[in-house]
Amino acid sequence: MRRLGIRAARRLKSFRPSGRSAGRSQPGQQAFSTPSKRLVSRAGSIGRAGVFGLLAVWGLLACSRAPEPVAAEVYAMGTLVQFTLYGTSPEQAAAAIRDSDAWLQAFGRDGWAFGDGELARLNAALGRGACMRVSPDLASQISRARALTIASGGRFDPAVGRLVALWGFDRAPRDPDRPFPQPAEIGALLPLPPMAEVTVSPTGEVCGPRGLFIDLGGIGKGYAVDRVVADLARRGIAAALVNAGGNLKTLGEPPGRPWRIGIRDPFKPGVMGSLTLVAGEAVSTSGDYERMFDYHGQRYHHILDPHTGLPVRGLHAVTVIHTEAALADAASTALFVAGPDAWRAVAVRLGIERALVVREDGGVEMTPAMVSRVRLTPAWALPRHPPADGS
Ligand code: ADP
Ligand code: MG
Repeated sequence: MRRLGIRAARRLKSFRPSGRSAGRSQPGQQAFSTPSKRLVSRAGSIGRAGVFGLLAVWGLLACSRAPEPVAAEVYAMGTLVQFTLYGTSPEQAAAAIRDSDAWLQAFGRDGWAFGDGELARLNAALGRGACMRVSPDLASQISRARALTIASGGRFDPAVGRLVALWGFDRAPRDPDRPFPQPAEIGALLPLPPMAEVTVSPTGEVCGPRGLFIDLGGIGKGYAVDRVVADLARRGIAAALVNAGGNLKTLGEPPGRPWRIGIRDPFKPGVMGSLTLVAGEAVSTSGDYERMFDYHGQRYHHILDPHTGLPVRGLHAVTVIHTEAALADAASTALFVAGPDAWRAVAVRLGIERALVVREDGGVEMTPAMVSRVRLTPAWALPRHPPADGS
């Protein structure tokens, strides 16, 4: 299969800076097929160079008259967003990617808690005890996030914003000179102002407890993937896959086969297995290897326990499937926080039927409905990894 990749690298302020290297994160899932031909377009800043590169590439594709899928990558929300489109004309594909990219850039800026976009301004207002009217996208993300905070018993809780900043995960790469948080500093931020008390009016006015600082890093990429895939469907694109840094969603199915997605190995580069997905399904992975630093021989990463203010221990990675990417995104974070003993109960509370976790000791566990979707590599299927239990 021939695929063509385009990367429109942007230096815009990112939604949620991530990754160990200059804000690039490794996606938790990767589509299995590798582009045989990749063309990289580097746009120094927003605008023409990226779009020009995009159109030039589609010009090439048109000449080749290849019936293969079209692949493209854009940089948004602090991560790489990968598109794979089937059965589109070059013009239709170019227009879809260009419009999605423009939307993603604005979405990333406005949904990032720590810059000067809309969410940052809302946080400033909440800090003063004021309310603020926000855009429909931000209003619906906050409503959804509030509902999932309650449904997850507070494991997923966007009120962690100040803690995220204290740990230094508001910037990528993390400033290595940043002092390690002192227990008193963490304690001063706890308990977190309750996300459950946030209100969103029908006109989009958001009010909340004074000092609440909302970070949508645990749901925003999933929300964005839902929106982008819905837009591709509206344009009449029959089959597509959109992957935003480990938050992935399918539209339709490729001709003659279901989707096969790689699950990243949480211990080392490479995959631990693959997942089968059908039309309209989303996958999200949360892992402790995404953004982290070592301090005095201990690893500290970006998923925080809202009750203790500390990075969560117990699991290395959580992968969930659901038809709503925003829910899958929040749920993978929630199950990660729930840990080895409570993840199954929290999955039930969130309506997640398909989940796979990798424990800190390398053991793999999954829900019964997940078993038929997962194929582990031979190394991961060995007995050192306890077999999938059917309980
Ligand atoms: P990633 O963003 O790497 O895909 P997640 O979806 O699990 O990983 O989201 C982690 C991000 O969500 C963190 O970087 C932080 O911004 C935020 N976050 C951290 N802990 C929590 C939590 N307990 N609940 C909600 N959001 C969280
Ligand atoms: Mg998440």
